[in-house]
Amino acid sequence: MRRKLVVGNWKMHGNIKSNQLLLTDIINGLRDYKNADYVVCVPNPYLFQARELLQHTNIAWGGQNVNQHEQGAFTGAVAPHMLTDLGCTYVLLGHSERRNLFHETNLTAAARFDAAIKANLTPVLCVGETLAEHEAGLTEVIVASQMDAVMATLGDKEFAKAMQLNMVFAYEPVWAIGTGKTASPAHAQAVHEFIRHRIDRRNSDAAAHVRIIYGGSVNSKNAKELFAMPDVDGGLVGGASLNAEEFVAICRLAN
Ligand code: PEP
Repeated sequence: MRRKLVVGNWKMHGNIKSNQLLLTDIINGLRDYKNADYVVCVPNPYLFQARELLQHTNIAWGGQNVNQHEQGAFTGAVAPHMLTDLGCTYVLLGHSERRNLFHETNLTAAARFDAAIKANLTPVLCVGETLAEHEAGLTEVIVASQMDAVMATLGDKEFAKAMQLNMVFAYEPVWAIGTGKTASPAHAQAVHEFIRHRIDRRNSDAAAHVRIIYGGSVNSKNAKELFAMPDVDGGLVGGASLNAEEFVAICRLAN
């Protein structure tokens, strides 16, 4: 039985005051809910604040991206060890906003995945098709190419390390992110099953254990049905993670 996981992605939202209120309400709301894992991925400047408030709670925190280099002349970039210095245990990689707005590619996702696991960060690799690809029936082709670009770069040792860190896949159809259009539970299940089969080709034990979470307009009304699907192991939540009541309700449904 895989333990469910809910990851909040705050994107570029928040300030010290609003974060304090949001995190305090989330901590209080989830205090007695110990049967699932909860993570918030906050903007980098607030990781210190997240650590101050979340250490000694049942909520972990993580970065929304990481650079593949350890250090150097990379203005504006954040190295994996900087995230772990601030107590992060998770990092999002290959989010569609990074791919579409910041021109990141399968290649950079693969390099960052490798750097993240070397630094003992649990990678949450985001994959998913655009609306045009969805309508052209290319969902599986796109998801497979995004997965393979990363998996093919991992030798057996790296793959074992990624498993030891409980790597996560997030299926996020781009047409469902921030649009209010959620994938149907049946569609999410079909793609999650496809992802699990693809991991199974590499390692069946890994396939059985890896968590595949769904992202794309998850809210407290649709989460129950989505989380009930056999291959949906939780959610990656954007907009609704900025509202404590909503986020707590989604997390409780995973519990
Ligand atoms: C996301 O940011 O990964 C996301 C799924 O956003 P939203 O929940 O707002 O669609």
